[in-house]
Amino acid sequence: MPKRRRAILGGRSNAPRPEKSWTRWHEHAACADLPSQLFYGSESESAAERADREAAATAVCAQCPVRCQCEAHAINLPEPYGVWGGTTEASRRNHRRWARTQAYGEATRAS
Ligand code: SF4
Repeated sequence: MPKRRRAILGGRSNAPRPEKSWTRWHEHAACADLPSQLFYGSESESAAERADREAAATAVCAQCPVRCQCEAHAINLPEPYGVWGGTTEASRRNHRRWARTQAYGEATRAS
């Protein structure tokens, strides 16, 4: 006999929810067992320490099987902090600035 589902207030059920796509790729991350301090720096970090840390983190990303998904996630969200998909905070900030400039250029050309 199938198990009866328990009704939850608000019309939702306790049936298993479909997995979200971002959680699926995250399971294969090369950084899953690494310390988060490698990908997120502290505020007291010097520029040289940051450069070394980001180089080490992006080297891990270069070997990661889900780098493309991770980079797309970081750019689309956008993720302001940390190394994601081989990109750094600064590189994503530059990308956002470039995208805004492109959008502004297209808007002014269209008008
Ligand atoms: S690309 Fe880098 S940050 Fe993204 S999951 Fe892989 S190792 Fe982690």
